[in-house]
Amino acid sequence: MKNPLTPEVLADPVALTRALVDIESVSRNEKAIADWVEDVLRGVPHLTTYRYSNTVMARTSLGRDQRVVLAGHLDTVPINNNFPATVRGDLMYGCGTSDMKSGVAYALHLAVALTEPRYDVTYFFYEAEEIESAYNGLFLVSEAHPEWLTADFALLLEPTHGIVEAGCQGTLRATVGTSGVRAHSARSWHGVNAIHAAGEVLRRLEAYEARRVTVDGCEYREGLNAVRINGGVAGNVVPDRCTVEVNYRFAPDRSPEQAEAHVREVFADFEVAITDLASGALPGLEAAPAQEFLAAVGTAPVGKLGWTDVARFAALGTPALNFGPGDPNLAHHPDEHVEIGKIRDGAAVLRRWLSVA
Ligand SMILES: [Zn+2]
Repeated sequence: MKNPLTPEVLADPVALTRALVDIESVSRNEKAIADWVEDVLRGVPHLTTYRYSNTVMARTSLGRDQRVVLAGHLDTVPINNNFPATVRGDLMYGCGTSDMKSGVAYALHLAVALTEPRYDVTYFFYEAEEIESAYNGLFLVSEAHPEWLTADFALLLEPTHGIVEAGCQGTLRATVGTSGVRAHSARSWHGVNAIHAAGEVLRRLEAYEARRVTVDGCEYREGLNAVRINGGVAGNVVPDRCTVEVNYRFAPDRSPEQAEAHVREVFADFEVAITDLASGALPGLEAAPAQEFLAAVGTAPVGKLGWTDVARFAALGTPALNFGPGDPNLAHHPDEHVEIGKIRDGAAVLRRWLSVA
């Protein structure tokens, strides 16, 4: 089969977005799209291309002082009656239009078009961002070929609706448990009800005042929420066990250790077990390429509230920002779409930033 990513398609970020959406690539099924992307990049004389599993990396070696990464994930969430892409007016609909094949289109378009960018550029197209971390292409490469990710600055082309979202919040999941004593509910005074004891956990959550933290001019708004509750034995038994699962989204001025200490303090007299903990990322606006990028965009950055792979770059010591045309509120939505005008605007910003002044 002929590669659908033809030179004419590659020259136009909008046509390229559509062509990429039309290559189905639900997580763990990225081989076809990775094959086509690799095929394109291997044909570009100013790039050296590498592949690891279904992650493809291509980079320039112009001897510039600074290197930047443009990164996008190739996978999508499962299709939901939204494949292939359709266009209605200025909107392109389809699985992955927003999250994030419009962003991938930027990187692939620029990889081919920019023969002499002002920085050395590493273009990174990776697999399995939408599922467990163990499959994530960025994670796998950071283990197998960490040098592929070496850079002074990274831009993740995730959906931000055309603004710059800086850093990201961390996330912690924990179970908060209460214990009691089982008894027949007809003689409940012989027991201690663990579900009733969980009432105090819920009252603390209800009364909790989440922080709003400003770092480098970006506001991060925290949240501590119950996301699941488990308890109960049978319809005639006083339960001896109840657990409330809580999720704490914390601003990047807190380390994972500090976040854990905070949750343990809030629930000091309960059994707390941490089940998942991922660090946030500071905004990282000081690096020269970040400053030049912000100047090219021309609007002030805001704090990223969700967790994204910028945290992986931050953990490697590389400042990273999020910037893409899609609306993050439409990601994973059956009605997912992207504004065609926003694709063109963002592509112009990136060209302005990466072109030699
Ligand atoms: Zn995404």
